[in-house]
Amino acid sequence: MCLCPMWEPKRKTVIILPMKKLLLPLLCSLTLTCYADGLPDLGDVSQEAISPQQERMIGEQSMYQIRANKSYLDDAEIADYLNQLGGTLIANSGEPTQAYEFFAINDNAINAFAMPGGFIGVNTGLILLAQNESELASVLSHEVAHVTQHHLARMVSGQKYDTLAAMAAIAVAIIAARDNPQAATAAIYGAQGGAMQRQLNFTRTYEQEADRIGLSTLQKSGFDTRAMPAFFEKMQRATRIAEGNTPTYLRTHPVTAERIADVGNRVQQHPFHLVPDRFNFQLVRAKLNANTKTPSEAVSFFTAALGEQKFGNPIANRYGLVLALLRNNQTQKAEQEFAALQQQAPTNAMITTLAGKLKRTNLQDKNIANFYRTATQNFPQHRALIYDYAEVLMQERRFEETLKLLNEQIIAHPNDAKLYELQARTFSILGRKQEEHHALAYNYILHGNLRGSIEQLELAKQMGTDYYELSTIETELKQFKEIAAAQRRKN
Ligand SMILES: [Zn+2]
Repeated sequence: MCLCPMWEPKRKTVIILPMKKLLLPLLCSLTLTCYADGLPDLGDVSQEAISPQQERMIGEQSMYQIRANKSYLDDAEIADYLNQLGGTLIANSGEPTQAYEFFAINDNAINAFAMPGGFIGVNTGLILLAQNESELASVLSHEVAHVTQHHLARMVSGQKYDTLAAMAAIAVAIIAARDNPQAATAAIYGAQGGAMQRQLNFTRTYEQEADRIGLSTLQKSGFDTRAMPAFFEKMQRATRIAEGNTPTYLRTHPVTAERIADVGNRVQQHPFHLVPDRFNFQLVRAKLNANTKTPSEAVSFFTAALGEQKFGNPIANRYGLVLALLRNNQTQKAEQEFAALQQQAPTNAMITTLAGKLKRTNLQDKNIANFYRTATQNFPQHRALIYDYAEVLMQERRFEETLKLLNEQIIAHPNDAKLYELQARTFSILGRKQEEHHALAYNYILHGNLRGSIEQLELAKQMGTDYYELSTIETELKQFKEIAAAQRRKN
């Protein structure tokens, strides 16, 4: 059987995206040398500004490192929510066609950051600090402004060495801070201290611009602009309390009294504008609270919120309680609470995903696959449901249906690494070794693991029986090896 239609989008992915990305030394550890060595390949940045395509390449390279870090929050529902909210802001920004990816970092520090090329990270601590969606949107719109104003690229197009080094230092600090705050501090105040200091001077000007433009985006997107100065103040207070730890937000986006006053003056002319939060904002916060506390702490937290203390959104709190009870292995109680939740909650993809999770704990339920078929029809864009549906089909040993579902999804989302992982697992159970290794090669390359991808392609080649697939494998293997050789020459 010819698998060409299935592989077609993947070939496109491999040729168009990773080929260019891999010209940069993505597999070496992210060090200043590595970054500084890699950047001149992007063109002579001292002569002209870095192009948006080049920015994107730098951002994609950094994302390989970030996604591989254990602080990266690999939760499709939270990422989807952030991308929906961020997408609204991008659509109302000065560059509505800007490519973007919003992602969450599992870190209590109050921080958000923009990487070149539209990659915007948000710490869970910042999402939990926001009491309403306009507050969260106010920080994201500030980050979006850094992206659409090409602040990092503008820094680089100035004094070549210092700005390149400062940019690399920022990237290193952001990534290292989550695993090793001391190393991050050393990176900033050690060898690159001077460059970083000069970079911060740039930042003050750019911060004002990001506030001004971010505020306009916030307004055009229909959010409450008064949330911006209010949230800045809240961040300043929260960061001051955490001063003993590293005040991360202050370091990358120093919230000064001047900035708060400036934004506060601007919004005084704006009318009061009460904006209801999207329900998913509350659900995302409840999910974060349910997953970041210990299971028993989370149960107590939501029980208190629903009980005498009464705080927060009651439906979201019950959703959080069900998640916490499941984590605490109190399945029966979780089912009771979910029954109450269903009485109150509107039709919603996240609640439907939770319903599926509960059904899967009940081994007697024979209609699970039917439930997921209907659910994925009702919410075709909700990735968490698709992944769970594939798992259920696999567990029920309905492998042809699993592969059909995954192939359809891969055509629609050729860069979704998780789909290839699920596909590889299905091929593995079926003993289809060539396809298993080929799917793993895509999974690895989408995680930036070039060496692992080549190994998988070699294995797939050795097991080759299908002529068309073999020819694809050989072409990819040749390309990847050329890239690896180019990297070795550089290092
Ligand atoms: Zn900023």
